[in-house]
Amino acid sequence: MAIASINPATGETLRNFSALSAEQIEQKLQLAADTFHTYRHTSFVDRARLMLRTAEILETEKQNLGKLMTLEMGKPLKAAVGEAEKCAWVCRYYAEHAEHHLADQLVETNAKKSYVKFQPLGPVLAVMPWNFPFWQVFRFAGPALMAGNTGLLKHASNVPQCALAIEEIFVRAGFPHGAFQSLLIGSDAVEGILNDVRVVAATLTGSEPAGRSVASIAGKQIKKTVLELGGSDPFIVMPSADLKAAVTTAVKARTINNGQSCIAAKRFIVAAEIYDEFERRFVEEMKALRVGDPLDESVEIGPLATPQICDDLVEQVEKAVAAGARVLTGGRKLDGPGNFYEPTVLVDVDPAAPISCEEIFGPVAMLFRVTNIDEAIRLANATPFGLGSAAWTNDANEQRRFVEEIEAGAVFINGMVASDPRLPFGGVKTSGYGRELAEFGIREFVNIKTVWIG
Ligand code: NAP
Repeated sequence: MAIASINPATGETLRNFSALSAEQIEQKLQLAADTFHTYRHTSFVDRARLMLRTAEILETEKQNLGKLMTLEMGKPLKAAVGEAEKCAWVCRYYAEHAEHHLADQLVETNAKKSYVKFQPLGPVLAVMPWNFPFWQVFRFAGPALMAGNTGLLKHASNVPQCALAIEEIFVRAGFPHGAFQSLLIGSDAVEGILNDVRVVAATLTGSEPAGRSVASIAGKQIKKTVLELGGSDPFIVMPSADLKAAVTTAVKARTINNGQSCIAAKRFIVAAEIYDEFERRFVEEMKALRVGDPLDESVEIGPLATPQICDDLVEQVEKAVAAGARVLTGGRKLDGPGNFYEPTVLVDVDPAAPISCEEIFGPVAMLFRVTNIDEAIRLANATPFGLGSAAWTNDANEQRRFVEEIEAGAVFINGMVASDPRLPFGGVKTSGYGRELAEFGIREFVNIKTVWIG
């Protein structure tokens, strides 16, 4: 199984790695289990000290870590440095709040004393994607380690250097050997690990097929899973919205991370009264984006992470056009080395066409015109996904309806969907189940134990 680090901006192979042997995997699983038996008894104060040290390393070394992310998966350097900073934030958040989130909860019953106790579960497998190669891992590892679990990371095969760098950060922060390990393995090795009795639970952030596979294997073993899968988030703009701010935010929400974010806005649903003006400004701002070398600080859109993602995008857009969509700007892969795709705007897309229901992982936006709020909500919900959603309106009644009626794990009014350690994150429908972040995230991988003393 090839695990390679390839610069998506140039196609240059940076490093090749061999996948772990069965014997090496066995050693790492045993280490995770052995470490758990002692690590679970450490205090919150001790764990917090290590987590704060982790945050310090991330902050001090954010430039180098950011460069590593950019070289391996192509996100603009500024965003990559920001990602390292955000990882430090989640480490600090859980260092400060884990003890409170997992404190015993007294409950009045007919017992002399009854309460709820939260205890760690054991080694948890995290199967993670390349698109936020640090953030996705830290938002799992921060709470999981603070809760007293040990972590095993199977990172995406195109970001092995990030995987190794993350393990090294936890080791240097002082976490015990085996508290967090990166396994350089292909996805074919996941089933064996999930079937292993020492691995007690799994979390997967990635595509729907990967989620189905991991959940079904874990389901057969009756092991808890959290799934953070894809999305096709709606971004609705109503007549009362601040149009200028809505357009600028819409462009950012579609193109952040080179268009490869689960919570990127992918379908723009705009009220007829303001549609023409929105379309004109949106196309203008998409056209103005600078595409190029992600290490260049002035570049806004870097390459797609792999040639396959670029090919998939080319095919999705071609099929949409063949089915009647019109391209207002962009619509093609750029010539030359690297996986660059032009910022693209599609209109006249049939809401029932495959592209409307699939996830588009790249800088391609679809605009839809609607005549009223009922139509906007209907279209917003006409997707198998239910991750995030954004609605722009200054009408209180409309705001209330969007909050109540949109089928998604998050509704952002007059803003763009973003993750925040203080707020839960996750989806409904085929976007997955379970939650990360806040007190909800740290309670996913614990035994919520009822204690009753008569
Ligand atoms: P992916 O192909 O599903 O890969 C994600 C991870 O799953 C990788 O480590 C991959 O390993 C592994 N994997 C793939 N197929 C597997 C299988 N059958 N069994 C076990 N493991 C398997 O997704 P991606 O292309 O890396 O990431 C993009 C997807 O992630 C998008 O759908 C995006 O929306 C989603 N995402 C969701 C969230 C969220 O919070 N909801 C956040 C970020 C991304 P290999 O690399 O070795 O194949």
